[in-house]
Amino acid sequence: MTGQDGATASPAATAELLAAMPTAAAVDEYWQRICREMTARAAEDAYERGQVDGYLLAIADVKAFQHGLVKDAELERRRWLLRCHRCRLAGPQAACRDCEARTRTTFGQPHPDDYPGTGQRCAA
Ligand SMILES: [Zn+2]
Repeated sequence: MTGQDGATASPAATAELLAAMPTAAAVDEYWQRICREMTARAAEDAYERGQVDGYLLAIADVKAFQHGLVKDAELERRRWLLRCHRCRLAGPQAACRDCEARTRTTFGQPHPDDYPGTGQRCAA
């Protein structure tokens, strides 16, 4: 039982262990209790990790949804933006005052830059 390499227990430690666990059943009970405690601790840790991961996933879903809303709102704004004549020809200008943000109901109304026509009617 005594060893010089430090890997074996000293006689005092061995006697202490034998006093604490005199029978094989006591040793089994001791190791089973340790295993139960380790399993319970691992389950608690996994549960907390799962809660944190689930929370982070939920937050990520909410953020993705919000970004989708912003992206959709920007698309909707661009859809109903009526470009002025200059922007139609030269491409969109930054902060153009002549382009008009329209709604679905007002989008079809004429823009002040629209071609006024010649005033002649077609002979039908
Ligand atoms: Zn414009």
